Amino acid sequence: MNPTRRLAAVLETMASEAVDALVIASPANVAYATGFENVFDQELSSVCVITRDAARVYADSRYEEAARVAAKDGPWAVIGPESDVWERALGDLDSDGVGTFAIESSLPHKRFTKSAQGREDRVRDADSWVEQIRIVKEDEEIECIARAAAIADAAFEHVLGIIAPGVTEIDIALDLELFMRRHGSEGIAFPPIVAGGPNSSRPHAKVSERALEPGDLLTLDFGARVRGYCSDMTRTIALGEVDPSRRAIYEAVRAANEAGLAAVRAGRTGTEIDAAARRVIDEAGFGERFGHGLGHGVGIEVHEAPNLGPRATRPVPAGSVVTIEPGVYVPGVGGVRIEDLVVVGEDGPVVLSHSPKDLIEV
Ligand code: ZN
Ligand code: ZN
Repeated sequence: MNPTRRLAAVLETMASEAVDALVIASPANVAYATGFENVFDQELSSVCVITRDAARVYADSRYEEAARVAAKDGPWAVIGPESDVWERALGDLDSDGVGTFAIESSLPHKRFTKSAQGREDRVRDADSWVEQIRIVKEDEEIECIARAAAIADAAFEHVLGIIAPGVTEIDIALDLELFMRRHGSEGIAFPPIVAGGPNSSRPHAKVSERALEPGDLLTLDFGARVRGYCSDMTRTIALGEVDPSRRAIYEAVRAANEAGLAAVRAGRTGTEIDAAARRVIDEAGFGERFGHGLGHGVGIEVHEAPNLGPRATRPVPAGSVVTIEPGVYVPGVGGVRIEDLVVVGEDGPVVLSHSPKDLIEV
Protein backbone atom coordinates (compact mmCIF):
# COMPACT_ATOMS: atom_id res chain seq x y z
CA MET A 1 0.00 0.00 0.00
CA ASN A 2 1.27 3.46 -0.86
CA PRO A 3 1.58 5.61 2.27
CA THR A 4 2.14 8.96 0.55
CA ARG A 5 -1.52 10.05 0.52
CA ARG A 6 -1.93 8.84 4.09
CA LEU A 7 1.05 10.85 5.30
CA ALA A 8 -0.29 13.93 3.55
CA ALA A 9 -3.61 13.49 5.34
CA VAL A 10 -1.85 13.11 8.71
CA LEU A 11 0.14 16.29 8.05
CA GLU A 12 -3.08 18.13 7.27
CA THR A 13 -4.59 17.00 10.59
CA MET A 14 -1.40 18.01 12.42
CA ALA A 15 -1.56 21.47 10.85
CA SER A 16 -5.20 21.98 11.79
CA GLU A 17 -4.49 20.75 15.33
CA ALA A 18 -1.38 22.96 15.53
CA VAL A 19 1.12 20.28 16.55
CA ASP A 20 4.64 19.75 15.23
CA ALA A 21 4.67 15.97 15.55
CA LEU A 22 2.37 13.01 15.99
CA VAL A 23 3.32 9.79 17.79
CA ILE A 24 1.41 6.71 16.60
CA ALA A 25 1.65 3.27 18.15
CA SER A 26 -1.74 1.54 17.94
CA PRO A 27 -1.07 -1.49 15.70
CA ALA A 28 -3.82 -0.72 13.18
CA ASN A 29 -2.67 2.89 12.83
CA VAL A 30 0.98 1.87 12.48
CA ALA A 31 0.02 -0.58 9.72
CA TYR A 32 -2.08 2.10 8.03
CA ALA A 33 0.34 5.01 8.29
CA THR A 34 3.36 3.03 7.09
CA GLY A 35 1.46 1.01 4.49
CA PHE A 36 3.79 -1.90 5.36
CA GLU A 37 2.18 -5.29 4.74
CA ASN A 38 2.89 -8.40 6.78
CA VAL A 39 5.44 -6.70 9.00
CA PHE A 40 3.87 -5.94 12.38
CA ASP A 41 1.82 -8.04 14.78
CA GLN A 42 -1.47 -6.86 16.19
CA GLU A 43 0.14 -5.87 19.47
CA LEU A 44 1.75 -2.69 20.75
CA SER A 45 5.32 -2.90 19.47
CA SER A 46 6.64 -0.27 17.07
CA VAL A 47 6.34 3.49 17.32
CA CYS A 48 5.84 5.92 14.44
CA VAL A 49 6.76 9.57 14.67
CA ILE A 50 5.58 11.95 11.99
CA THR A 51 6.98 15.48 11.91
CA ARG A 52 6.57 18.14 9.25
CA ASP A 53 9.59 16.87 7.36
CA ALA A 54 10.15 13.26 8.43
CA ALA A 55 8.34 10.00 8.99
CA ARG A 56 10.19 7.54 11.20
CA VAL A 57 9.23 4.12 12.44
CA TYR A 58 11.12 2.81 15.49
CA ALA A 59 11.26 -0.97 15.40
CA ASP A 60 12.75 -3.57 17.69
CA SER A 61 14.75 -6.54 16.43
CA ARG A 62 11.64 -8.66 15.81
CA TYR A 63 10.42 -6.35 13.06
CA GLU A 64 13.43 -4.38 11.93
CA GLU A 65 14.48 -6.44 8.90
CA ALA A 66 10.97 -6.79 7.50
CA ALA A 67 10.31 -3.09 8.11
CA ARG A 68 13.45 -2.09 6.20
CA VAL A 69 12.39 -4.18 3.20
CA ALA A 70 8.87 -2.72 3.28
CA ALA A 71 10.17 0.85 3.64
CA LYS A 72 12.44 0.64 0.58
CA ASP A 73 11.90 3.52 -1.89
CA GLY A 74 9.13 4.96 0.31
CA PRO A 75 8.85 7.98 2.59
CA TRP A 76 9.42 6.10 5.86
CA ALA A 77 12.80 5.84 7.61
CA VAL A 78 13.26 2.79 9.81
CA ILE A 79 15.14 3.36 13.08
CA GLY A 80 16.33 0.27 14.89
CA PRO A 81 16.72 -2.29 16.14
CA GLU A 82 15.95 -0.49 19.38
CA SER A 83 15.72 -2.18 22.76
CA ASP A 84 13.35 0.56 23.93
CA VAL A 85 11.52 2.08 20.98
CA TRP A 86 9.65 4.57 23.17
CA GLU A 87 12.74 5.95 24.85
CA ARG A 88 14.48 6.45 21.51
CA ALA A 89 11.44 7.94 19.75
CA LEU A 90 10.69 10.46 22.49
CA GLY A 91 14.38 11.20 23.02
CA ASP A 92 14.71 12.06 19.32
CA LEU A 93 11.71 14.40 19.59
CA ASP A 94 13.45 16.20 22.45
CA SER A 95 16.86 16.39 20.80
CA ASP A 96 15.39 17.52 17.48
CA GLY A 97 13.78 20.43 19.30
CA VAL A 98 10.23 19.48 18.35
CA GLY A 99 7.77 21.73 20.17
CA THR A 100 4.17 20.65 20.63
CA PHE A 101 3.44 17.04 19.80
CA ALA A 102 0.51 14.68 20.18
CA ILE A 103 0.37 11.06 21.34
CA GLU A 104 -2.54 8.76 20.55
CA SER A 105 -4.99 8.71 23.43
CA SER A 106 -5.93 5.09 22.69
CA LEU A 107 -2.63 3.93 24.21
CA PRO A 108 -2.63 2.23 27.61
CA HIS A 109 -2.83 4.91 30.29
CA LYS A 110 0.50 3.90 31.83
CA ARG A 111 2.31 4.18 28.50
CA PHE A 112 0.74 7.56 27.76
CA THR A 113 1.58 9.11 31.14
CA LYS A 114 5.15 7.75 31.07
CA SER A 115 5.67 9.25 27.62
CA ALA A 116 4.23 12.59 28.67
CA GLN A 117 6.30 12.77 31.86
CA GLY A 118 8.56 15.82 31.88
CA ARG A 119 6.99 16.99 28.62
CA GLU A 120 3.62 18.06 30.05
CA ASP A 121 3.78 21.56 28.56
CA ARG A 122 4.35 20.22 25.02
CA VAL A 123 2.17 17.12 24.81
CA ARG A 124 -1.43 16.79 23.60
CA ASP A 125 -3.61 13.79 23.12
CA ALA A 126 -4.59 12.74 19.62
CA ASP A 127 -8.08 11.30 19.85
CA SER A 128 -8.83 9.17 16.75
CA TRP A 129 -6.91 11.39 14.34
CA VAL A 130 -5.68 8.50 12.20
CA GLU A 131 -8.92 6.54 12.72
CA GLN A 132 -10.79 9.44 11.10
CA ILE A 133 -8.47 9.38 8.09
CA ARG A 134 -8.98 5.60 7.78
CA ILE A 135 -12.75 6.01 7.29
CA VAL A 136 -12.55 6.80 3.56
CA LYS A 137 -10.95 3.85 1.82
CA GLU A 138 -8.62 3.88 -1.17
CA ASP A 139 -9.55 1.70 -4.16
CA GLU A 140 -6.81 -0.77 -3.24
CA GLU A 141 -8.22 -1.12 0.28
CA ILE A 142 -11.71 -1.73 -1.08
CA GLU A 143 -10.34 -4.44 -3.40
CA CYS A 144 -8.81 -6.23 -0.41
CA ILE A 145 -12.03 -6.01 1.61
CA ALA A 146 -14.05 -7.26 -1.39
CA ARG A 147 -11.69 -10.21 -1.79
CA ALA A 148 -12.04 -11.04 1.89
CA ALA A 149 -15.85 -10.82 1.54
CA ALA A 150 -15.73 -13.20 -1.45
CA ILE A 151 -13.75 -15.74 0.59
CA ALA A 152 -16.39 -15.52 3.33
CA ASP A 153 -19.19 -16.00 0.78
CA ALA A 154 -17.48 -19.15 -0.50
CA ALA A 155 -17.00 -20.38 3.08
CA PHE A 156 -20.71 -19.93 3.79
CA GLU A 157 -21.69 -21.94 0.74
CA HIS A 158 -19.20 -24.63 1.74
CA VAL A 159 -20.29 -24.86 5.38
CA LEU A 160 -23.95 -25.30 4.43
CA GLY A 161 -22.85 -28.74 3.24
CA ILE A 162 -21.88 -29.90 6.73
CA ILE A 163 -24.62 -28.28 8.83
CA ALA A 164 -27.03 -30.91 10.16
CA PRO A 165 -28.56 -31.99 13.48
CA GLY A 166 -25.87 -33.46 15.71
CA VAL A 167 -23.03 -31.28 14.39
CA THR A 168 -21.53 -29.03 17.08
CA GLU A 169 -20.97 -25.29 16.94
CA ILE A 170 -17.25 -25.80 17.36
CA ASP A 171 -17.10 -28.18 14.38
CA ILE A 172 -18.77 -25.55 12.19
CA ALA A 173 -16.50 -22.77 13.46
CA LEU A 174 -13.38 -24.84 12.73
CA ASP A 175 -14.65 -25.76 9.29
CA LEU A 176 -15.34 -22.10 8.45
CA GLU A 177 -11.90 -21.08 9.64
CA LEU A 178 -10.10 -23.87 7.81
CA PHE A 179 -11.95 -23.17 4.57
CA MET A 180 -11.20 -19.45 4.70
CA ARG A 181 -7.52 -20.01 5.44
CA ARG A 182 -7.20 -22.57 2.68
CA HIS A 183 -8.77 -20.11 0.26
CA GLY A 184 -6.50 -17.15 0.83
CA SER A 185 -7.47 -15.64 4.17
CA GLU A 186 -4.56 -14.54 6.41
CA GLY A 187 -5.78 -16.04 9.65
CA ILE A 188 -9.31 -14.84 10.24
CA ALA A 189 -10.81 -11.41 10.82
CA PHE A 190 -12.15 -12.50 14.26
CA PRO A 191 -13.14 -15.77 15.92
CA PRO A 192 -16.34 -16.89 14.16
CA ILE A 193 -19.63 -16.70 16.02
CA VAL A 194 -21.58 -19.93 15.55
CA ALA A 195 -24.66 -19.79 17.74
CA GLY A 196 -27.40 -22.42 17.50
CA GLY A 197 -30.81 -22.75 19.17
CA PRO A 198 -30.98 -20.93 22.54
CA ASN A 199 -27.43 -19.61 22.06
CA SER A 200 -28.57 -17.59 19.05
CA SER A 201 -30.30 -15.04 21.28
CA ARG A 202 -26.86 -13.85 22.48
CA PRO A 203 -25.52 -11.48 19.83
CA HIS A 204 -21.88 -12.31 20.55
CA ALA A 205 -22.29 -15.85 21.86
CA LYS A 206 -19.10 -17.84 22.40
CA VAL A 207 -18.80 -21.00 20.32
CA SER A 208 -19.85 -24.04 22.37
CA GLU A 209 -19.89 -27.80 22.11
CA ARG A 210 -23.67 -27.82 21.79
CA ALA A 211 -24.94 -30.08 19.01
CA LEU A 212 -27.51 -28.63 16.62
CA GLU A 213 -31.13 -29.78 16.93
CA PRO A 214 -34.02 -29.79 14.45
CA GLY A 215 -35.91 -26.48 14.53
CA ASP A 216 -32.86 -24.48 15.71
CA LEU A 217 -32.00 -21.11 14.34
CA LEU A 218 -28.26 -20.94 13.67
CA THR A 219 -26.37 -17.65 13.40
CA LEU A 220 -22.99 -17.59 11.65
CA ASP A 221 -20.95 -14.36 11.92
CA PHE A 222 -17.46 -14.50 10.47
CA GLY A 223 -14.90 -12.80 8.28
CA ALA A 224 -11.72 -13.33 6.32
CA ARG A 225 -8.60 -11.14 6.07
CA VAL A 226 -6.75 -10.19 2.89
CA ARG A 227 -3.56 -8.05 2.88
CA GLY A 228 -4.45 -6.90 6.38
CA TYR A 229 -8.08 -6.00 5.60
CA CYS A 230 -11.11 -7.67 7.19
CA SER A 231 -14.52 -8.71 6.00
CA ASP A 232 -17.55 -9.23 8.25
CA MET A 233 -20.84 -11.02 7.40
CA THR A 234 -23.66 -12.73 9.27
CA ARG A 235 -26.26 -15.16 8.05
CA THR A 236 -28.90 -16.97 10.10
CA ILE A 237 -30.28 -20.26 8.84
CA ALA A 238 -32.71 -22.87 10.20
CA LEU A 239 -32.30 -26.56 10.93
CA GLY A 240 -35.28 -27.94 9.11
CA GLU A 241 -38.59 -26.18 9.17
CA VAL A 242 -38.91 -23.38 11.73
CA ASP A 243 -42.05 -22.54 13.65
CA PRO A 244 -44.03 -19.36 12.82
CA SER A 245 -42.67 -17.35 15.77
CA ARG A 246 -39.07 -17.83 14.62
CA ARG A 247 -40.00 -17.21 10.99
CA ALA A 248 -41.61 -13.90 12.03
CA ILE A 249 -38.35 -12.82 13.66
CA TYR A 250 -36.46 -13.80 10.53
CA GLU A 251 -38.74 -11.88 8.19
CA ALA A 252 -38.61 -8.74 10.37
CA VAL A 253 -34.79 -8.79 10.40
CA ARG A 254 -34.62 -9.51 6.68
CA ALA A 255 -36.89 -6.53 5.95
CA ALA A 256 -34.84 -4.33 8.31
CA ASN A 257 -31.64 -5.38 6.54
CA GLU A 258 -33.14 -4.36 3.19
CA ALA A 259 -34.43 -1.07 4.62
CA GLY A 260 -30.99 -0.34 6.10
CA LEU A 261 -29.29 -1.05 2.77
CA ALA A 262 -31.78 1.16 0.93
CA ALA A 263 -31.01 4.01 3.35
CA VAL A 264 -27.24 3.94 2.76
CA ARG A 265 -26.13 7.07 0.96
CA ALA A 266 -23.09 9.31 1.35
CA GLY A 267 -23.80 12.29 3.58
CA ARG A 268 -26.49 10.64 5.69
CA THR A 269 -25.68 10.29 9.36
CA GLY A 270 -25.24 6.96 11.10
CA THR A 271 -28.39 7.77 13.07
CA GLU A 272 -30.48 8.25 9.92
CA ILE A 273 -29.35 4.97 8.37
CA ASP A 274 -29.86 3.14 11.67
CA ALA A 275 -33.36 4.62 12.04
CA ALA A 276 -34.48 3.28 8.65
CA ALA A 277 -33.81 -0.29 9.74
CA ARG A 278 -34.89 0.19 13.36
CA ARG A 279 -38.30 1.47 12.26
CA VAL A 280 -39.03 -1.84 10.48
CA ILE A 281 -38.15 -3.85 13.59
CA ASP A 282 -40.18 -1.52 15.82
CA GLU A 283 -43.22 -1.90 13.57
CA ALA A 284 -42.87 -5.69 13.67
CA GLY A 285 -43.08 -5.47 17.47
CA PHE A 286 -39.46 -6.41 18.22
CA GLY A 287 -38.10 -2.94 19.00
CA GLU A 288 -37.02 -3.96 22.51
CA ARG A 289 -35.07 -6.90 21.12
CA PHE A 290 -32.67 -4.96 18.87
CA GLY A 291 -30.14 -3.78 21.43
CA HIS A 292 -27.11 -2.92 19.32
CA GLY A 293 -26.41 -0.36 16.61
CA LEU A 294 -27.09 -1.10 12.95
CA GLY A 295 -23.47 -1.28 11.88
CA HIS A 296 -19.85 -0.24 12.03
CA GLY A 297 -16.93 0.52 9.78
CA VAL A 298 -14.66 -2.31 8.63
CA GLY A 299 -11.07 -2.10 7.41
CA ILE A 300 -7.77 -2.97 9.07
CA GLU A 301 -9.89 -3.57 12.15
CA VAL A 302 -13.16 -5.43 12.05
CA HIS A 303 -14.78 -2.73 14.18
CA GLU A 304 -13.68 0.77 13.26
CA ALA A 305 -15.17 4.16 12.44
CA PRO A 306 -17.72 5.17 11.31
CA ASN A 307 -20.46 3.95 13.57
CA LEU A 308 -24.09 3.49 12.51
CA GLY A 309 -26.38 3.73 15.52
CA PRO A 310 -28.82 5.90 17.46
CA ARG A 311 -26.03 8.20 18.69
CA ALA A 312 -23.94 8.36 15.49
CA THR A 313 -24.55 11.96 14.46
CA ARG A 314 -21.72 12.32 11.94
CA PRO A 315 -22.40 12.04 8.20
CA VAL A 316 -21.06 8.85 6.65
CA PRO A 317 -18.80 9.75 3.70
CA ALA A 318 -18.58 8.16 0.25
CA GLY A 319 -15.87 5.51 0.14
CA SER A 320 -16.39 4.30 3.68
CA VAL A 321 -17.03 0.59 4.21
CA VAL A 322 -19.70 -0.32 6.76
CA THR A 323 -21.87 -3.21 7.87
CA ILE A 324 -25.66 -3.26 7.89
CA GLU A 325 -26.54 -5.79 10.59
CA PRO A 326 -29.94 -5.58 12.25
CA GLY A 327 -30.73 -8.32 14.75
CA VAL A 328 -33.56 -9.49 16.97
CA TYR A 329 -32.75 -11.62 20.01
CA VAL A 330 -35.46 -13.29 22.11
CA PRO A 331 -34.10 -15.29 25.07
CA GLY A 332 -35.45 -18.82 25.12
CA VAL A 333 -36.63 -18.57 21.52
CA GLY A 334 -33.55 -17.63 19.53
CA GLY A 335 -32.08 -14.81 17.55
CA VAL A 336 -31.58 -13.67 13.99
CA ARG A 337 -28.97 -11.32 12.59
CA ILE A 338 -28.36 -10.60 8.91
CA GLU A 339 -25.21 -8.62 8.18
CA ASP A 340 -23.97 -7.31 4.86
CA LEU A 341 -20.76 -5.44 4.12
CA VAL A 342 -21.16 -2.41 1.84
CA VAL A 343 -19.18 0.42 0.31
CA VAL A 344 -20.99 3.73 0.82
CA GLY A 345 -21.56 5.50 -2.49
CA GLU A 346 -23.01 8.87 -3.49
CA ASP A 347 -26.20 7.22 -4.76
CA GLY A 348 -26.38 4.17 -2.56
CA PRO A 349 -24.41 1.16 -1.42
CA VAL A 350 -22.22 -1.26 -3.33
CA VAL A 351 -22.92 -4.53 -1.52
CA LEU A 352 -19.86 -6.77 -1.05
CA SER A 353 -21.66 -9.70 0.66
CA HIS A 354 -23.36 -11.97 -1.85
CA SER A 355 -24.56 -14.92 0.22
CA PRO A 356 -28.31 -15.61 -0.06
CA LYS A 357 -30.71 -14.02 2.43
CA ASP A 358 -33.93 -15.98 1.86
CA LEU A 359 -34.34 -18.21 4.90
CA ILE A 360 -32.36 -21.40 4.25
CA GLU A 361 -33.82 -24.47 5.95
CA VAL A 362 -31.22 -27.25 5.88
ZN1 ZN B 1 -20.18 -9.67 12.06
ZN1 ZN C 1 -20.25 -6.62 12.31
